[in-house]
Amino acid sequence: MGVPLYLEPRLAPRAASLLASGRFLHALADGLGSPLNVLLPDQLADNLARFRAVYRTHRLTGRIFFAHKANRSSALVRRLAATDAGIDVASLGELQHALGAGFTPDRIVATGPKTPEFLWLAARTGVVVHVDGRAELEQLAALVRRYGLPRADVLLRLSEFTSEGSRVLTRPSRFGTPVAELDALLTTVERCADAVRPAGVGYHLDTTSLAEKAVALEGCVRAMDAFRARGLDPRAVDIGGGFGVSYLADGEQWERYTTELTQAVMGRRPALTWRRHGYGLSHEAGTLRGTLALYPAHRPVAAEKYLDALLSHAAPTLGRPLATLLLEGLYELHIEPGRALADQCGLTLARVVEVRDTASGERLVRLAAGADDVALEEHGVLMDPVLVPRDGRQAAPDAGGPVDAGGPVGVHLAGNLCLEADMITRRTVFLPSPPREGDLLAFVNTAGYCMDFRAGEAQRQPVARKVAVWRDGDAAEGPEGSGAGPWRWCLDEEYWPVVQQHRTRQHGGGEDADEA
Ligand SMILES: *Cc1c(COP(=O)(O)O)cnc(C)c1O
Repeated sequence: MGVPLYLEPRLAPRAASLLASGRFLHALADGLGSPLNVLLPDQLADNLARFRAVYRTHRLTGRIFFAHKANRSSALVRRLAATDAGIDVASLGELQHALGAGFTPDRIVATGPKTPEFLWLAARTGVVVHVDGRAELEQLAALVRRYGLPRADVLLRLSEFTSEGSRVLTRPSRFGTPVAELDALLTTVERCADAVRPAGVGYHLDTTSLAEKAVALEGCVRAMDAFRARGLDPRAVDIGGGFGVSYLADGEQWERYTTELTQAVMGRRPALTWRRHGYGLSHEAGTLRGTLALYPAHRPVAAEKYLDALLSHAAPTLGRPLATLLLEGLYELHIEPGRALADQCGLTLARVVEVRDTASGERLVRLAAGADDVALEEHGVLMDPVLVPRDGRQAAPDAGGPVDAGGPVGVHLAGNLCLEADMITRRTVFLPSPPREGDLLAFVNTAGYCMDFRAGEAQRQPVARKVAVWRDGDAAEGPEGSGAGPWRWCLDEEYWPVVQQHRTRQHGGGEDADEA
């Protein structure tokens, strides 16, 4: 097999403690089936607190909106409703869900492409609408007038920022109004003043580039000046999401893995993937072609640290830190993190159905889950699952239990559909010990987009159920994962922020602790 090339997941204490509770996880999957999505709502509150701390460092105010599209869970949305955060909804269904979870309209922003029904409910309830451009602005104003709705607060989504004296431009986007058309947009805002009230401007850029986002943020501050020059009084700059997540525990593993993958594509070492898949790379007559189409799975600066870095970044032409520009204008800062707020908030369990060796000598591990149930690969995230043995013969790596005599093994993970392409991942996955039928593989950190974004009922295979889990005494205010009580669970749709205390009182905390 050669030296195993691990890509070990980064685990926050709460998720690590859950993974060490193998009996609890097996009981859940036995009762509720495979695949099974397990959510940790309290983690969301901790992640939020870390973003809020960055606001405090920079003495900024404004709302942190969770981008709902990252996960459909009710538990996450309801847990968030019990904090001071807001929520970014991108469809009529998400807006209804947020309202029903207890978010008041002042804590909701409506983004994304909108239908008339979505716009109507947003305006009817008084949600801030992040408008894409002039056409949407006019459509909204017409709805407000026609149905006698209250004046709607709008944020104007801008795009295609440029920066004089610097080569950085922001990438073209299907969404938003190019800043070059700002004047015409503001004229429309003035013309619709009876129906809409400009609350500010914003952008959402799907890039990891700080330089690019700095250009956009400075562009927004300049746009705010243009508002003021017309006697308008905008308050907020909304810089969208895209703060990112660091998925892997070890940067060196990531470096080594991508180096070896390149070598494998060049044919200089044995293959590391199923049927020589190259993740965007290929090789022609001794030359490497293409680029690695993967998420940078180990990121030293991600989530709230990325926000901190952006706010500390010098404005490309004005020179001062971007946070200073916001402070000088007395502007509020809104952010819309999806993936970063969902970081470490959930994992997906899949049962091992079969382990066999193919004629060509590959070990195939078939799971009771499909590639759409564990969409890490779809998002370009390469990360090892954690083996949760059925009989506790080897505890999860963090628990430091005895290791199975089998030793490290390279396997291919196949899904449950009759499709050649239904591989959970196309890479060879190295595990510290061989999985057996009945074991669980835990794919951690799937709550952001990798859990239910695409999951469907192909072949009438079951859609993963969702459960929320928590521990008694584990409040967001305490040190992370410090709750000492046993794990509790309920179906996702049964979770409400009051459920924890309520059920704890009923049960009195008398259940057996797991092997943790
Ligand atoms: C998807 C999206 C987000 C969240 O992006 P992340 O990368 O998950 O942080 C925020 N705002 C808008 C408008 C989006 O479309």
